[in-house]
This record gives sequence, structure tokens and C-alpha cells, in this order.
Amino acid sequence: MSKAWAGGSTRAWRTQRARVLRRDNYRCVLCGEPANEVNHRVGKADGGGDDLGNLETLCTPH
Ligand SMILES: [Zn+2]
Repeated sequence: MSKAWAGGSTRAWRTQRARVLRRDNYRCVLCGEPANEVNHRVGKADGGGDDLGNLETLCTPH
């Protein structure tokens, strides 16, 4: 799909990442602790994309 994002640190990815963090109020979706990691629910290797539906905020332990 978006091969340009495959590097993981493009401007587009950082923008998308910031959107996910804001949507989840900078909190881990699993434990509710403050978090600043964004995870792919379905990994890119398994065909997951960079759309908001496939991204979630997680804390570092998760
Ligand atoms: Zn957590």
C-alpha cells in the first residue's frame, strides 16, 4: 500500500503517529497509563497498514 512509509520515520508517519496519540489521549489502550508508543495491531509483515484503524497507543511495557 504505502511503500513510502516502509522506513518507519517519514514525515507522513510522524504525522499519523501524532494523530493516533491524540485520538487515544496519550494513554495506553490496554492499561490506561500515559504512553507515547504507537503500535500496529496487524504488523506490516502480516499486511497491516498505517491507517488509524490499525494503529493504537501503547505504553513502553506493552
Ligand atoms: Zn500499557
